[in-house]
Amino acid sequence: MARYGPNEHDVLIVGGGGAGLRAAIAVAETNPELSIAVVSKVYPMRSHTVSAEGGSAAVIKDNDSFDDHAYDTISGGDWLCDQDAVEAFVKEAPKELLQLEHWGCPWSREEDGSIAVRSFGGMTNKRTWFAADKTGFHLLHTMFQTTMKYDPIQRYDEYYVTRLLVDNGRCQGVVAIELATGKIEAIAARSVIMCTGGCGRIFPFTTNGNIKTGDGMAFAYREGVPLKDMEFVQYHPTGLPFTGILITEAARAEGGHLLNKDGYRYLQDYDLGEPKPEPIHRSMELGPRDRLSQAFEKEEEKGRTIEGPYGSYIHLDIQHLGEEIIDRKLPFVRELCLKYENIDPVKEMIPVRPVVHYMMGGIDTDIHGATKLDGLYAAGETACVSINGANRLGSNSLTELLVFGARAGQAAAEFASEQKPFSSALEALATDESRRIEKGFFSENGSNPESIASIRQEMYQAMEKGVGIYRSEDSLERSQEKIQELQERLMNVSIEDHSYTFNTELVAALELSNMLDISEAIIQSALQRTESRGSHQRVNYPDRDDEHFLAHSMAYKSEVGPPKIEYQPVTITRWPPGERVYGH
Ligand SMILES: Cc1cc2nc3c(=O)[nH]c(=O)nc-3n(C[C@H](O)[C@H](O)[C@H](O)COP(=O)(O)OP(=O)(O)OC[C@H]3O[C@@H](n4cnc5c(N)ncnc54)[C@H](O)[C@@H]3O)c2cc1C
Repeated sequence: MARYGPNEHDVLIVGGGGAGLRAAIAVAETNPELSIAVVSKVYPMRSHTVSAEGGSAAVIKDNDSFDDHAYDTISGGDWLCDQDAVEAFVKEAPKELLQLEHWGCPWSREEDGSIAVRSFGGMTNKRTWFAADKTGFHLLHTMFQTTMKYDPIQRYDEYYVTRLLVDNGRCQGVVAIELATGKIEAIAARSVIMCTGGCGRIFPFTTNGNIKTGDGMAFAYREGVPLKDMEFVQYHPTGLPFTGILITEAARAEGGHLLNKDGYRYLQDYDLGEPKPEPIHRSMELGPRDRLSQAFEKEEEKGRTIEGPYGSYIHLDIQHLGEEIIDRKLPFVRELCLKYENIDPVKEMIPVRPVVHYMMGGIDTDIHGATKLDGLYAAGETACVSINGANRLGSNSLTELLVFGARAGQAAAEFASEQKPFSSALEALATDESRRIEKGFFSENGSNPESIASIRQEMYQAMEKGVGIYRSEDSLERSQEKIQELQERLMNVSIEDHSYTFNTELVAALELSNMLDISEAIIQSALQRTESRGSHQRVNYPDRDDEHFLAHSMAYKSEVGPPKIEYQPVTITRWPPGERVYGH
């Protein structure tokens, strides 16, 4: 039995969202002897997973098959998915969702008592399990309760991780600030799993919660781990215009229509199929998200969207579903519309526009969640395995958290079981980090002090203008220059709040520096991919170019300037690249 000092563990998980909690349970089940830490900057139930609405995909009905789920995922991802990972994913998906049922997740039911499934964008069959339209809440709650059964899991709630502890080429823990006291300390671990979620907050208009600042991606990137496929940023077609609050795809899955300013179902003009009688799969409103968001931009160009105070929008109409179905299957949609738009979707149309939603790219991992850095693993939205390729299908992400959270947990547990000793340098590394934070943010920096708010605002503009749904060389280059400038200006930030208790200004400064690093990786990867694939659309390169770009981009941090981009082949097992066809 291993002996532990204070703040010493076998496996440390950064993140208490779906991926983090699933990984923690997997570690406890793989080796009950191991000591496990779950470190989270917010109380776990406040992680973004809680806000997932629509559902989680896995084959369950007789008319469905693993091959269909795999093919939909691969073609939806425009052939950039690694097919070995997709095959493992679709096979393990139903087991994971059934496991959640056994842990207490209240999946919605058909009349006969079997699991209910709904259609979701880009899926040929109904395979999206749901718990009304609060799936993420139930999923996270179920896992949170389950983690309480395992004594070896110790939580560090409201600890903000600032960097990885890496010595002798091995990741051996993290440095974290205890937010309640301001104490900066080392937490050592034989293996670390990053489950820190996505980074939608680098854009101004997003469905993502404030905490989604891509911290884990930045930490891994700074230690030489490549960020993979970062140019692929998903826009969800239906966000509320002012807040960016998501109106779930389930609204369209249940039969909602998208209408332009003339009340016309315009998607029939965009190679997404004809309007069809129910059931509609993969056509019109249930086409994939990248195509729907691109169609919105085209409608806008044609002047067929509606002008509003927060940009142009179109309508999502669910009135014809009737109050009973809306209240039973989409209660949260009604609640959100009433609370945030003062609109009742039972009798009014919902204004919506595309909104930044999800990162397909992330920390490069293998199929077991292992990164190129010994002892470091990653899972969930922060990782890129990759099952999402150039465009994720809705409802695959929650399932991904479970399948690859579990896999990463098992692999990290095995690595930690070797009980390699800790390096003696960890305390010194933590002291260095403490000094870096002190010097970087608390001392008077330069004669021209900068504010966090203005740098963040300029980052938003650079990302929105340069790296939106359609991208040009010019816009990308300008954004790259801007981000470089902001990186330099960040050196002159000094924060006003010097208190130790819940110093949110310090956290905001640290998050901003993470977001700037990630922004440069996104822009540079986008600049060098001179083709259009999935969510990455280059105006002067409208076609997919498999000859040159059937490959993952790998962004490596440079000492100065933009990152170096290399390419890694895509794993193709059984589905050679083909046309993406919808509406059939
Ligand atoms: C509004 C919305 C609805 C969605 N609906 C669906 C859906 O219906 N179906 C679907 O499949 N997908 C959906 N998604 C996507 C999916 O919910 C997310 O991709 C997924 O939940 C991410 O889970 P995660 O565990 O990777 O990260 P998160 O749930 O984001 O958790 C990240 C964790 O990392 C911690 N953390 C981060 N940085 C630090 C740090 N520096 N120090 C300490 N802790 C840190 C946070 O505290 C948090 O606990 C939706 C997303 C949004 C935004």
